[in-house]
Amino acid sequence: MKVLKFGGTSVGSAKNINNVIDILTRYSQKDSIICVVSAVGGITDKLLLAGKQAQNKDTSFKDTFNIIKDIHLNILNELNPHNASSIITYTETRLEELKNLLDGIYLINELSPKTSDKLVSFGELLSSYIISETMKNRSLSADRKNSQELITTNSNFTKAEVEYSLTNKNIVDYFKAAIQKITILPGFVSKSIAGEQTTLGRGGSDFTAAIIAAALKVEQLEIWTDVSGMYTTNPKLVKQAYPIEKISYQEAMELSHFGAKVLYPPTVQPVLDLEIPIHIKNTLEPNAVGTIISNEKTNAVSPVKGISNIGNIALLTLEGSGMVGIPGFSKRLFETLSQEKINIILITQASSEHSICLGIEEKDAEMAKQAIDAAFENEIALNKINPIIVETNLSIVALVGDNMKNHQGISGKMFSTLGKNNINIRAIAQGASEKNISAVISENDVKKALNTLHEQFFEIETKQLNVFITGVGNVGEKLVDQIQQQNDYLKENLKINIRIAGLSNSRTMIFNDAGIDLKNWKDKLASGEKATLEGFFEKTKSLNLRNSIFVDVTANKDVANLYADYLRQSIGVVACNKIACSSDYENYSLLKRLSLKYSAPYLFETNVGAGLPVIDTLNNLIASGDKITSIQAVLSGSLNFVFNNFNDTTKFYDVVKQAAAEGYTEPDPRIDLSGVDVARKILILARESGMEMNLEDISNTPFLSESGLKSGSVDDFYKTLIDDETHYQSLYASAKAKNCQLKYVAQLNNGKANVGLQEIPKGHPFYNLQGKDNIVMFYTQRYPEQPMIIKGAGAGAEVTASGLFADIIRIGNN
Ligand code: ADP
Ligand code: ASP
Ligand code: MG
Repeated sequence: MKVLKFGGTSVGSAKNINNVIDILTRYSQKDSIICVVSAVGGITDKLLLAGKQAQNKDTSFKDTFNIIKDIHLNILNELNPHNASSIITYTETRLEELKNLLDGIYLINELSPKTSDKLVSFGELLSSYIISETMKNRSLSADRKNSQELITTNSNFTKAEVEYSLTNKNIVDYFKAAIQKITILPGFVSKSIAGEQTTLGRGGSDFTAAIIAAALKVEQLEIWTDVSGMYTTNPKLVKQAYPIEKISYQEAMELSHFGAKVLYPPTVQPVLDLEIPIHIKNTLEPNAVGTIISNEKTNAVSPVKGISNIGNIALLTLEGSGMVGIPGFSKRLFETLSQEKINIILITQASSEHSICLGIEEKDAEMAKQAIDAAFENEIALNKINPIIVETNLSIVALVGDNMKNHQGISGKMFSTLGKNNINIRAIAQGASEKNISAVISENDVKKALNTLHEQFFEIETKQLNVFITGVGNVGEKLVDQIQQQNDYLKENLKINIRIAGLSNSRTMIFNDAGIDLKNWKDKLASGEKATLEGFFEKTKSLNLRNSIFVDVTANKDVANLYADYLRQSIGVVACNKIACSSDYENYSLLKRLSLKYSAPYLFETNVGAGLPVIDTLNNLIASGDKITSIQAVLSGSLNFVFNNFNDTTKFYDVVKQAAAEGYTEPDPRIDLSGVDVARKILILARESGMEMNLEDISNTPFLSESGLKSGSVDDFYKTLIDDETHYQSLYASAKAKNCQLKYVAQLNNGKANVGLQEIPKGHPFYNLQGKDNIVMFYTQRYPEQPMIIKGAGAGAEVTASGLFADIIRIGNN
């Protein structure tokens, strides 16, 4: 004999009920089958809603009733296109009784727990009737037995306790005499010894099935639901979660107690001693393996079996010096809560006994506060303890595993993983059996916490990065393309999975916490919501995804001003925008500090030399104990382009115009030609070498003509280039006379930095620098004579994008 239980979704539509009937028919060919069913999915909630509405004199209870009625009649008709009149008549009579009950609640304005149980029982009573009659209609050997006649309880309405001796006898007696192959029973419903309708608590149909399975000592209990087993964590919140093949009773119990709704917590109890295995299966995918809960030893790789969470938690904190060393204090506290029938989910007490912390359901918080404050009225009046502090909007996240006790460092790993993602832990509890480590966190952080913990304990293999890119112009677009192209390679070879979760240009922005589909991202972005910098930040923050990285591909000061906000949320920042790093030293060092404090990387390799690994190399030299003595560099791709193309056969104006047209200059070419851009770059290198320096400390000898320096607008500036051609030609002539090349050079020597145009003699490493190339020479303690040289294209969209990409990968590798 087997007991199968089908949940709300499994019996939620005619189509699903047909699946159930198929499964039962198949099973009954070998064995007698007992089948426990839930109410049609969502009906229990609707019954309770109608009851509340009626109680509150809200006539919309009638609409709710009509919805309940239609759902049942539609399913019934779809399942039984013929010979349905008697089933319909019976169902309508029951629905009429339901309507009368609701009318009564409306009239007297009251919904007691006792009436509530009577009300919700309609759900299972109706579903079990419809299913059994449909099966009979199809000539199957099926019959229904009302579990209210079998399961006897006390009168604890809404969550009654089972009187096992009576119940077990009823069940054994009934099935001894039963002749049908398939027996359908309503789950969840029961009756008190006094004959009142009671229920076993929300989700209680699982429990009904377990009680029957245990009474009859069957070989297996199967719980058929809408997911393929008990998952490593809630599959609705973590996409990567997967079904656990085998799990112990203890582990299953812990997981369900801590929120894994797939199994109603008391279900394990009746079958535990009898060692009846529980098999969790998916009605919608009957061939999936599912989960076996038993005492069988497993050789799981990870000591953590699953992660679960319970929401709507309130934390009560009782504090005060008067608590220290007084015996019986906790006893009074627990008794007070027990008298109010308030269930304690988690307890922590500091070793000083100065404070005690309790996690309870949020709905009980107000009552708990009143009861405790009243119970300790005297102590509070004498200032021995403080009135209880209540915090709400919290959730418990728990790691569960029988084997955790044999492994060190799991809690450390759990808390550091949460900490790295800026998830604040309000309280911690670890059972003495070490099967469970729980942390209380803010409700808002639950999804992030489950995902990041799941990654840590179950997918150690791959790290997911969630990237938010602002400024998808020329460079940004290339970056998106590169990410799209390389994603499979990165997943396979570096175990990094990059998801672009947000994109913005100056007009619009789009987000998708599951990753934006990059196939036609431009169209999607064009029809996105209106972009604002604040809006982009707020949305990135509220999505609260693990390993979030903000990528700034603008040259905008206002964007740079938001980095601190991002870092404070533990969102990493990758920027090609130089403004923040070259702003005043205070701000630069603040960003560095925030990056450390919130474990959020701040990387800006592309600030110097585009995709060339200049800053990374410098950081590595310093981290490995080297000291920078001098830096000599040509750092401006645009100035290099200009002076490589300018000679006595070309015009300075034309060359600058060409550089601008080819995208090598800033929109305002003066930023390049005045040397400001190069000064910013050498400033960043100086700072990264450990020097406290500001832009004003860098001496800059301009080569522009006087009128060029003073020009008001960009157009005016271009005019001065035409007017002052002789000035520029004289620079060229002077260099040529000495057989030199003009190069714009940045230097850092003995803590002093300068930038300016230099005449470079033949034989110097800068002399042959081509096109838009950059070169950086590091003289260090370890490289005193022959410098370490980095050379290559220092400008261009493709290389800048690849530099940004390298920074993102660097974060992934960490
Ligand atoms: P039923 O109506 O079949 O009893 P429930 O809704 O009570 O189904 O339980 C199944 C649901 O439990 C799943 O759809 C899923 O959303 C939720 N759930 C939460 N945690 C887990 C977990 N660890 N494994 C599987 N499901 C879980
Ligand atoms: N129908 C009840 C509920 O929704 C019992 C169950 O489905 O297990 O809580
Ligand atoms: Mg359930």
